[in-house]
Amino acid sequence: NAQFALKRAKGSGRVEVYQPGEVSKARHRFSLETELRRAIESDSLTLAFQPLVNLQTNKVAGFEALARWEHEALGLISPTEFIPVAEESGLIVPLGRWALETALATLARWDAEHGAPLPIHVGVNVSAIQLARDDVSSAVENALRRSGLRGDRLTLELTESAIVQDPERATRTLQGLKGLDAKIAMDDFGTGYSSLAYLQRLPIDILKIDRSFVTGMLGDRDSVAIVRAVLGLADALGMDTTAEGVETIELAHTLSALGCGCGQGFYFARPLSAGEALPYWRSRSA
Ligand code: C2E
Ligand code: MG
Ligand code: MG
Ligand code: MG
Repeated sequence: NAQFALKRAKGSGRVEVYQPGEVSKARHRFSLETELRRAIESDSLTLAFQPLVNLQTNKVAGFEALARWEHEALGLISPTEFIPVAEESGLIVPLGRWALETALATLARWDAEHGAPLPIHVGVNVSAIQLARDDVSSAVENALRRSGLRGDRLTLELTESAIVQDPERATRTLQGLKGLDAKIAMDDFGTGYSSLAYLQRLPIDILKIDRSFVTGMLGDRDSVAIVRAVLGLADALGMDTTAEGVETIELAHTLSALGCGCGQGFYFARPLSAGEALPYWRSRSA
């Protein structure tokens, strides 16, 4: 029957049957993995750069580098789709190194175009799987050396899961990164399972408040209370804050009034191409 395909269970002689739908899912995943490998090898991924705006001064504090994959036939594929494929296949290691190298090389190019080091940093996402499998602090050290940039121009964005999975390894890596002067941001803060003990113990510089709480502020008082509490916590621990998902002027004003450090979201700008970023910085720093 064409609806079914057989798969062999790993390590055993047992044969299982795919349910309809699973067949195409598995096939889709397989081809996405193959195509993603090819895209990484042929250097055809790109980075988009979304501004992080200082809510007190309205100036651009930095840009978050976000991977983009424009597939010839399938069009633009979202990172929420291809990052999990990269994580499951191990491709996240070369992809993560590529993102680091490219983000820093791009920032160095903007500096050169500007004629002086810009007062901005670049944020690069580091997946939990990448942290577990790669020597991230050596990768950062190499990328910094090649770009000629100082470590304090770089922020690594880690999620809570990166720490929870292997706290000892995460601690060593974070200490290595601090030794290079890089900054550490806790991404999507509030959605994971990390304990406050990690926040206290680890050298975390910035809490990025997850978009769900920020957009929730418009409608419910609980989200406002949560954001207020996170800002208080960050302040008490001496950390900076960035709010994700700032989609409206009301949110920007409310967050600014609550003392949030930076905002990122469609209200300020969507992720921009590398060529659009420097003009955007100029337009906001006049
Ligand atoms: P993230 O690190 O939390 O990045 C923020 C995401 O929120 C981006 O989605 C951004 O486009 C989106 N966003 C920003 N402002 C707004 C807003 O106002 N409203 C809404 N609705 N969304 C907003 P994007 O680019 O699709 O990336 C999704 C996720 O994929 C990222 O979440 C990050 O976890 C992952 N990712 C992207 N690039 C990389 C990469 O190079 N390496 C790794 N490991 N992960 C990456
Ligand atoms: Mg991020
Ligand atoms: Mg985030
Ligand atoms: Mg997020």
